[in-house]
Amino acid sequence: MSENNRPLNFIERIIEDDLATGKYTSIHTRFPPEPNGYLHIGHAKSIWLNFGLAQKYGGKCNLRFDDTNPVKEDEEYVESIQKDVQWLGYQWDGEIHYASDYFDQLYDWAIYLIKQGKAFVCDLNAEQMREYRGTLTEPGKESPFRTRSVEENMELFEKMRAGEFPDGTRTLRAKIDMASSNINMRDPVLYRIKHANHHQTGDKWCIYPSYDYTHGQSDAIEYITHSICTLEFEAHRPLYDWCIQNLPVPAEPHQYEFSRLNVNYTITSKRKLKQLVDENHVDGWNDPRMPTISGMRRRGYTPKAIRDFCEMAGVTKVEGVVDVSMLEYAIREDLNAISPRAMCVLHPLKVTLTNYPEDRTEIMTAPVHPQDEAMGTREMPFCREILIDQDDFREEANKQYKRLVLGKRVRLRNSYVIEAEEAIKDADGNIIEVRARVLEETLGNNPADGVKPKGVIHWVSARDNVDCEVRLYDRLFNDPAPDAGGKNFLDSLNPGSLEILSGCKGEIGLAQATLDDRYQFEREGYFVLDSRYSTPEKPVFNRVIGLKDTWEKAAS
Ligand code: ATP
Ligand code: MG
Repeated sequence: MSENNRPLNFIERIIEDDLATGKYTSIHTRFPPEPNGYLHIGHAKSIWLNFGLAQKYGGKCNLRFDDTNPVKEDEEYVESIQKDVQWLGYQWDGEIHYASDYFDQLYDWAIYLIKQGKAFVCDLNAEQMREYRGTLTEPGKESPFRTRSVEENMELFEKMRAGEFPDGTRTLRAKIDMASSNINMRDPVLYRIKHANHHQTGDKWCIYPSYDYTHGQSDAIEYITHSICTLEFEAHRPLYDWCIQNLPVPAEPHQYEFSRLNVNYTITSKRKLKQLVDENHVDGWNDPRMPTISGMRRRGYTPKAIRDFCEMAGVTKVEGVVDVSMLEYAIREDLNAISPRAMCVLHPLKVTLTNYPEDRTEIMTAPVHPQDEAMGTREMPFCREILIDQDDFREEANKQYKRLVLGKRVRLRNSYVIEAEEAIKDADGNIIEVRARVLEETLGNNPADGVKPKGVIHWVSARDNVDCEVRLYDRLFNDPAPDAGGKNFLDSLNPGSLEILSGCKGEIGLAQATLDDRYQFEREGYFVLDSRYSTPEKPVFNRVIGLKDTWEKAAS
């Protein structure tokens, strides 16, 4: 959380109050992912908030895997989540925690509830339980098994644990209030039977605690002070509190809810992201078009830009959708400040400088960063044959076109002014080469005859350059709300979301690029080596983002 002058958000106000009144002397938060998928931009928000609050107030933040549903969970996800949290710039306090570390304790507390007459074993199946539950407007009905004796409940629960019953045949439920206006309080399920191997506990358990029964108690065991979650859990808070009040827990944590981060043109459901991966619509969880943290990392987004975006989006209880261009803005802001400049021609067109000697090479120098002298200078060889972008030459053009036109002048960035003399075409009429002449004495000066160039274009030497592939990305979905209102998000997949350009030519300094470097290719955007496909022999650059927002214009 950055120390800018924005007003405190509502959670910060609560924390500052709690510290001021002495309710707590220090705070302790946690980030509790379920390891059933890779983390996405929504989780980044939760990470930034929980770890950021701990940082800001000198507290601690735990990483706790909320691993109560072994069927969908996997060690692969456990590992990716740790990497993502650290990449975002955070470190959890002490050891990693797992809700499954507390299965023994949770089991003992379930027995405690049974002995207190506050929990019972129920034989209703899922469908019957739904019927008994009632609706938002009608109260539920009590289960016929609700009045079982403590002894019978103890015996049945023990048998559940011992594996004597098949999946789904019995549950342990809290005995609260079937007439409660809050459906979550209508005798909620605390344990279900699942004969499944667990990635942490193996085959030790065949009964697993519910999220609602696990979360608050895990918070209490870890002495979490502020348990922050998203708004959909607001209606679960009475149950969270009921468990804390009715169990001999060591602490009394409190749950606070904020609205989840939704971003337009983006899907933030692990299930749907997994579907994109499983059905090969994308190149894995870390496809650079994915809104996953690993995808954004491979795409070249920076941790700082993502944290800044979370901060800009704010923390409230109001449901809303954030414009993805806010994220893009944050990325450009950060990359503009830190990225070395380079020239790379994406669609090369040869220009022969007819009056430039065949055997001459000059070294042009340019700043690595126009606003940051400390980043030094770079060198680019200049010779008779250079490459410019095909889009930067026209035989004829109107005044808006400030690039090279036949018979007109343009400045080569960091180099001479040239004037186009002739366009050479192939049999199909495609321009395959431009012949031009260099205007002498125009390094750093305008032409002596006073006829100024129309604009500035980038170039590379046709003799000395780095041959590379460039991957241009567009939004993965064409629809601002790909999965809203029951829409099938696959219907709005953007068929043009990946464009691969080969034979691109970059300035020679790009041969030194590493996976950690992000460059601004002048006039083209920000680029980073692709961690999956790039090799030293054949660099592959991902476009992180363009220089300015062209989406709205292109789409309208
Ligand atoms: P599911 O539980 O359906 O698998 P989830 O997105 O809730 O999906 P969790 O692993 O439970 O995944 O999420 C971990 C934490 O991240 C939770 O505290 C959750 O509230 C928070 N979180 C998830 N999605 C968002 C979001 N879009 N915005 C903010 N926080 C989020
Ligand atoms: Mg969840």
